[in-house]
Amino acid sequence: MYTLIDGKLLAAEMRGELKEKTQLFEKERGRKVGLAVVLAGDNPASQVYVRNKIKACDEVGIKSFAVYLPQNVTQSVLEQAVKELVSNCAVDGVLVQLPLPEHIDAESVLKLIPAEKDVDGFSAENTGKLLLNEQSLVACTPHGVMKMLEKYKIDTKGKRAVVLGRSNIVGKPMAVLLLNADATVTVCHSKTQNLKEECLRADIIVSAIGKPKFLTADMVKEGAAVIDVGMNRDEAGKLCGDVDFDKVKEKCSYITPVPGGVGPMTITMLMYNAYYAAVRSKT
Ligand code: NAP
Repeated sequence: MYTLIDGKLLAAEMRGELKEKTQLFEKERGRKVGLAVVLAGDNPASQVYVRNKIKACDEVGIKSFAVYLPQNVTQSVLEQAVKELVSNCAVDGVLVQLPLPEHIDAESVLKLIPAEKDVDGFSAENTGKLLLNEQSLVACTPHGVMKMLEKYKIDTKGKRAVVLGRSNIVGKPMAVLLLNADATVTVCHSKTQNLKEECLRADIIVSAIGKPKFLTADMVKEGAAVIDVGMNRDEAGKLCGDVDFDKVKEKCSYITPVPGGVGPMTITMLMYNAYYAAVRSKT
């Protein structure tokens, strides 16, 4: 019998707690926690993500600053917008929604966000601190996965964890967080040989590959905990994860659904990061 990890419920609980914290912050500092979101271009998925982030800000009592720029925005206009948000003391965190239009040098834009306002946790400084196991703003998706493991009391100490995917925003920080939580971590990617054997040894599998039904039941050890970060569309256009959920769940101790698993936790951790940045700010 498996336990379904309810990301939606967990996120709602955490947002309730966060709302109380932001209210207290407002009372003490005389201002709200502020989060700025920059959206450049007309990518429909990005528009949905930004809308959801603003909705979440409203829900937890964070003031949102949204800047919308056209698809043909120039590098200098975009950079100027980010600079203005960064220097605004009512803004505790700045997030630039990715991907940016192709003609934009995204790295230069992201470098304008100082570590203390880098609520996505993508900067070299925050990534470095994570590696050193120092307090920092941690990338939201892997941070959300760790909260799920913690809340469902899934032990990581001495356990074998396999992370599928090595992107800078999910796979790598995920592996470091698990390592910092005393798991024995293996990271798999497109060049990994014997990936199935690696997975079969795992007590915990976190899949962040981006391929529907990639992780099948024959790749999962009986009793493993499976966390599905993937957000894909199946042949019918339906949202699905990386895991062949219906078959894999029968072998698991714990499993996350898609939708309703990691997704809601990611936005919640963004809110958490904005609050964390605000508490540490001098304003
Ligand atoms: P990404 O940058 O495309 O990275 C994918 C990783 O998967 C790469 O490291 C790649 O290996 C590896 N990979 C691809 N095909 C593979 C294969 N056949 N075997 C083994 N490894 C393979 O993606 P990402 O940004 O990390 O996102 C991964 C998934 O998570 C996507 O579905 C994305 O939509 C989803 N996501 C969800 C959330 C959420 O909140 N739920 C947040 C972020 C991302 P190489 O490095 O060798 O190319």
